[in-house]
Amino acid sequence: MVGRPASRTDLDGILERGMAGPGRLSRPEIVRLLSLEDPGDLRRLRQAAYSVKLRHAGRNVSLRGLIEMGNVCAKNCFYCGIRRGNAKVERYELDAEAVAGMAKWAYDQKYGSVVIQSGEIESAEHTGLVCRILGRLADFSGGELGVTLSLGEQEEEVFRLWREAGAHRYLLRIETSSPELYRRLHPADHDFERRLLCLRRLRALGYQVGTGVMCGLPGQTLEQLADDVLFFRRLDADMLGLGPYIPHPDTPLGASLEIGDSYRARQLDLGLKMISVCRLYLHDVNIAAATALQALADNGRELGLGAGANVIMPNVTDLAHRKKYQLYAGKPCLEESSDRCRGCLALRVAGAGETILWGERGDSPHYRRR
Ligand code: SAH
Ligand code: SF4
Repeated sequence: MVGRPASRTDLDGILERGMAGPGRLSRPEIVRLLSLEDPGDLRRLRQAAYSVKLRHAGRNVSLRGLIEMGNVCAKNCFYCGIRRGNAKVERYELDAEAVAGMAKWAYDQKYGSVVIQSGEIESAEHTGLVCRILGRLADFSGGELGVTLSLGEQEEEVFRLWREAGAHRYLLRIETSSPELYRRLHPADHDFERRLLCLRRLRALGYQVGTGVMCGLPGQTLEQLADDVLFFRRLDADMLGLGPYIPHPDTPLGASLEIGDSYRARQLDLGLKMISVCRLYLHDVNIAAATALQALADNGRELGLGAGANVIMPNVTDLAHRKKYQLYAGKPCLEESSDRCRGCLALRVAGAGETILWGERGDSPHYRRR
């Protein structure tokens, strides 16, 4: 749907305030930006966000090689394709050898950083396995390789062990900052307060803390998304992983949702607007152009960069496992080897007029300043 153009002076005033410094927009102004639909207004929003990105990150993109370590998960989130209750999923967990091999490949390719992600497992064996993996990574890279973990909620002691073993970033999306919406998206034994507590624990342990939400969830309002943006600042987040929600047919939330072209376009637009608004409100955080953007449009990640993101997470998991790690429908690059992904990515990023920071860890400028 093409909306009516916003009054120029009014929108310009909001964008100028956003560009002037972090934390300057009010909640109604954020809602206003998220509700823009006129193509010209959307272009102005993107340009404003991009100018803030330029100031803090230049025309540069940092890479994180994504290693999908396993799809075994104790949780049953209503939206996620690898939830415990999805009996159609063939479960796997990579051993230390395999994860270290993928990370070494990423390191040799000068990706600078990796993200190790999996379903949520809380056990002594799993904790030990991750410690062994971190040890291997530190050994071959001499601590040069940036390591983000995205392994769900854990006890404080576990976060501490992993930090000591060499992890220095942790990504734990809050999914939504609305406790009420969170309750509707998760079974009763999933605890919003514990997720918050984990984010605080990570901060106290000195991790670079990443969080984020899904945009366009059923029943989610623009006001709730605006509250998410305010939440990121209250949390003092260093990194954001923001992505559109994409239904998965074998989940309670996704089973009855139709994914037509107009739905995809709406989800993509909202995801991009959210990136721009976060850039305008938070300024110097790392923002990833989530793979979910690419699932909605072939050039989704490049659009994410143009909207204000500065991080891309190319998949470096062996092809044999990628199909088993489908959080949402239409996951891209299921048939592309990591090698081919690398070539394709380099071309795409160059085509978008951006430069990849090969071999750099790409730490969050916000974290460095803090
Ligand atoms: N188990 C860990 C990490 C893996 S899930 C955790 O939950 O933190 C990583 C992210 O995938 C989640 O945070 C969620 O935001 C996203 N995700 C899951 N299902 C999705 C869907 N259907 N559409 C878009 N993103 C989804
Ligand atoms: Fe498990 Fe994470 Fe998926 Fe929830 S979102 S079911 S915790 S993998």
